[in-house]
Amino acid sequence: MFEKVLIANRGEIALRIHRACREMGIKTVAVHSTADESAMHVRLADESVCIGPPAARDSYLNIPAILSAAHITGADAIHPGLGFLAENAPFAEMVEEHGITFIGPTPEHIRLMGDKVAAKRAAIELGIPVVPGSDGTVETVEAAIEAGRQVGYPMLVKAAGGGGGKGMRVARDEAELKEAVPAAQNEAKAFFNNGEVYLERYLDRPRHIEMQILADGQGGVIHLGERDCSLQRSHQKILEETPSPGLNATQRAKISKIATDAMRKLGYKSAGTIEFLFQDGEFFFIEMNTRIQVEHPISEMISGVDLVREQIRIASGAPLGYRQEDIELSGHAIECRINAEHPETFRPSPGKVTSYLAPGGLGVRTDSALYQNYVVPPHYDSLVSKLIVHGRTRNEALMRMRRALEEYVISGIDTTIPLHQKLLGSPDFLNGDYDIHWLERFMGLKT
Ligand code: ADP
Repeated sequence: MFEKVLIANRGEIALRIHRACREMGIKTVAVHSTADESAMHVRLADESVCIGPPAARDSYLNIPAILSAAHITGADAIHPGLGFLAENAPFAEMVEEHGITFIGPTPEHIRLMGDKVAAKRAAIELGIPVVPGSDGTVETVEAAIEAGRQVGYPMLVKAAGGGGGKGMRVARDEAELKEAVPAAQNEAKAFFNNGEVYLERYLDRPRHIEMQILADGQGGVIHLGERDCSLQRSHQKILEETPSPGLNATQRAKISKIATDAMRKLGYKSAGTIEFLFQDGEFFFIEMNTRIQVEHPISEMISGVDLVREQIRIASGAPLGYRQEDIELSGHAIECRINAEHPETFRPSPGKVTSYLAPGGLGVRTDSALYQNYVVPPHYDSLVSKLIVHGRTRNEALMRMRRALEEYVISGIDTTIPLHQKLLGSPDFLNGDYDIHWLERFMGLKT
């Protein structure tokens, strides 16, 4: 087992990884920008190294500085967390070339799934159903119009290198497609330095269902059930729950088998998530994330499996600590993502947290790096806390979440807590009756 792990991230996920290491008796090294000197992940780690100025490209994305920090501190492994360098195949390669273990999948699998067009092709070969769309990328408007005749309208123009809901444009007819293709190409170029786009049929009322996988690359593959992440704004997840209120046992068994069979065939190693859209009883693959995800705690709550611990064990060469028969998924879990943003305008709200009190009690978990007098820096993602609850039934989890949100005190900055409270009062949500477009309609953003 590793003696010392460098955590190449910040915020709540850095803390999450630190906690897993601590419980395994592994020492931790935090890296941080000058804006994060007093961050919680720095305070709790055994050692810390400043890796650059506030801008992420100069610090949390600064590969030479991170590798140097690992050498100076004698870390024998690096956990990339999520975002930043988590799905950067060259980084994973460089880490290994420096004799350090990368806690994650192989660079080949990161690369394959990072290119959504290649990932879709691989999915088809692995027996996973995909959203109908263009065969590969479309370079010009003319090519898109031609390919669009097969795909049918409405269509979604998507970035091959996309992520975070960026670089996506809906086209309802040919005229809209003429504008959508260059717009998506430009956005994709700006965000991902890769202007390649492809076409997909636009599903009008799907749920977003994703399967959590754990695999050891030695034949051991298990799933921890699905997560329903349909509550989204601008293609970004707001609240997640498991099990999905929209799946029955047959559908659940079907997708679990498709996902685990595919990962066994691929020889996948580490934690991973296969994302699907689900409409009219059918699943359509959209992408695979080769990392731990923001919403992983709800799967941990219903399974009792520590996903980060398993990632670390697998990276050290150990086989999976569980067989599928050992996994008992019990009860219901919900996560609310709490952002430092205005709950209606979503304007970011960095600044000083003047008072802070996290909720507690049975079945309540708070993954947050906030504390009283902490100053939320303006330079990074606005996610500041994840409130997770577990109950024996969905109704118990809903009541518990409502109670926990009411207890949560975060003063001095705006947060999205009021949005979640509003959501928890909506009959549609309470009935589990929602799709990926529901939240925007509910908020009056879309008709
Ligand atoms: P990203 O990598 O940017 O997160 P995804 O491919 O995972 O992109 O899609 C993000 C979200 O965009 C999905 O959860 C869904 O809400 C929406 N989406 C993606 N593809 C489609 C589609 N073909 N039809 C309708 N909505 C889609």
